[in-house]
Formats: sequence, C-alpha cells, structure tokens
Amino acid sequence: MEKQYDLIIIGSGPAGLTAAIYAQRAMLDTLVIEKEMMSGGQVVNTYEVDNYPGLKGINGFDMAVKFRSHAEELGAVFSEDEVTGVEREEGGYVVRCASHSYRTRTVLLASGASHRKLGVPGEERLAGKGVSYCATCDGAFFRGKTAAVIGGGDVAVEDAIFLARMCRKVYVIHRREELRAAKSLQERLFAQPNVEMVWNTVAESVNGDEKVESLTLRNKVTGEVSTLETDGVFIAVGITPSSEIFRGLAKQDEQGYIQAGEDCRTSAPGVFAAGDVRTKQLRQIVTAAADGANAVASVERYLLEG
Ligand code: NAP
Repeated sequence: MEKQYDLIIIGSGPAGLTAAIYAQRAMLDTLVIEKEMMSGGQVVNTYEVDNYPGLKGINGFDMAVKFRSHAEELGAVFSEDEVTGVEREEGGYVVRCASHSYRTRTVLLASGASHRKLGVPGEERLAGKGVSYCATCDGAFFRGKTAAVIGGGDVAVEDAIFLARMCRKVYVIHRREELRAAKSLQERLFAQPNVEMVWNTVAESVNGDEKVESLTLRNKVTGEVSTLETDGVFIAVGITPSSEIFRGLAKQDEQGYIQAGEDCRTSAPGVFAAGDVRTKQLRQIVTAAADGANAVASVERYLLEG
C-alpha cells in the first residue's frame, strides 16, 4: 500500500510555505502540492510589499522566493501537480491530482484566492488584448499609453501607483466616492500627477475590435453615460477563494471561503484551512503566514489526539 503522509499542504503561497516551515520543524512527514511554482501566491505579482514587519518595500516576487527557500532549506518536499479533489478514506484522506493520488492523515487547504471578474461585455473577449488582472505582469505593455484601473481596494490603488510610473495617464474608476484602500496608499496615489480619479462610476462595457479602445462608463449619481478612451483596462475588484474543488469536503460560507477559526480547523476532522481561502477578517501576507503556523499547531494536536 502507498505511503501515508502526516500532512499534505495544498498551495504554496505565504500560508502554505509558512505551514511547510513549521511542519518541517515539527518533523511531520509533509508534502506540499502546488499547481505551479508558488501557485497560491498572489504575492508573486505584487510589485512592492510595504507592511510585512522587517521587510519594508520588498518586491513581492523576492519575498516569495525568500519564503520558499526557507522552507526548502529545512527540507520541505514539493510536488508540482494540480489537485482535482480530496476524498475521505479510513484513517485519513486521499488527495487526487491530475497525475497521481496521495494518501495523508491530515490536509491543509492553503489554495488562496484569485482575481474576481467584473462580468461586463467585452471583458472576456478582450482579456489579454488590453484587459488585464495583473499590473505588475502586464503594465510594461502600456508604457507611454493610457490605462484605466477599475476598483478602489488595496490592489487597485497599488496597481494605479505602479502604472503611473510608466503610463502617460492613469484613470482610477471607482463605484463610490471613497476608496477602500489603506490611507497610506491613498496618499501616495493622490500625489501622482498623472492619475485622475473617476468617482461614483461603473464600467458598463469594454470596447474595441482587436484590442481595447475604450470603456463605456455610467455615473451612478447622475446616470450620465460616457466613453473613456484607453489602451489598457486593469480590473482589480476583489478576490474569489480558490475553493471550488473542496465543496462538499468542509463547510464554506456563501462566498466560498472555507469556514475555520484562528485554529484553522474546518468542519471536517483532519482538514485545516489557512490563508486567503479561510473565513477571516483581514487578508494580508502577515495573516496568511500566521495561519500557516496556527494550522500546523492544530495538525500536531489532532495527530496526537489520534
Ligand atoms: P477588496 O479590498 O475587496 O476591494 C475590491 C474593490 O473593488 C472595492 O473598492 C470594491 O468597491 C470594488 N468592487 C468590487 N466589486 C465591484 C464591481 N462589481 N464593480 C466595481 N467595483 C467593484 O479587494 P482587493 O483590493 O483585491 O484586495 C484583496 C485583499 O487583499 C484585501 O483584503 C486587501 O486588504 C488585501 N491586500 C492587501 C495589500 C496590502 O496590505 N498592501 C495589498 C493587496 C491586497 P467598494 O469599495 O465599493 O466595495
């Protein structure tokens, strides 16, 4: 019979990698499964991280590499594979992947979250042709051009600040007249001379034949419909948990976040959830890392309880 791990960690963002570090130190026989290198990591696409203690201003990719090498130096074992489902079996779980199945006593769901779609006409058709969900990945294509960022959270504001460095003009289109983003980010945004705020406004469609040419906008207060010419549209309207394949395994809330408290225990015995995929108040790198540590402490306790 195939070997049974103590713990399988699904995802290798800050939560999964911190859990891997703690699991190595706890001498648990652990495997980390990742779709691609640092698959669970939105941090990889973050230009600058300014609020992680001791690493002020670090580039997101460099930070992810640091997390990963720390886990690797402690002997963490990684497998690049796509998880298709997790099933219960006598004494544990079977984690089914595209190319292999693994047996384990406990599972940590640390699959993170991905960008949410806006759901307007033209968005899907023009994705990759001017519509983007990642400013640090695609911003360079818009050097000297015009870009519009849609959203008012941390990601939208960080994206706009990043784009303002290279674009001729950046519009930030937000559905209210107050941003959700951290005040310090807002200050930096408002200091950019080439950024223009478009308040109380929603995008009704993304327009263009071969590539993005304009946005149709509607002012929510006046009802006025207008056209904004732009070369790029960066959509940053929040995240959605990567939890679809775990439906039926452990309880989720109405948005699909896996229900678990600070101890990361889910409704299923031996299944834990950490990072952005878990129900929580604040989704940050530091809280994801904290989850990774807490989750492994709970895994150890669970294994001892036997
Ligand atoms: P977020 O905080 O949920 O913000 C989403 C923004 O998009 C909000 O301003 C929201 O408007 C707007 N929005 C949502 N649906 C919309 C729609 N259909 N049409 C138009 N606008 C829409 O998401 P996020 O900025 O992606 O951040 C995700 C999480 O990561 C957050 O918890 C954030 O704090 C965290 N994060 C932190 C940092 C950092 O600390 N440096 C950096 C990046 C991300 P309303 O404001 O009106 O709801």
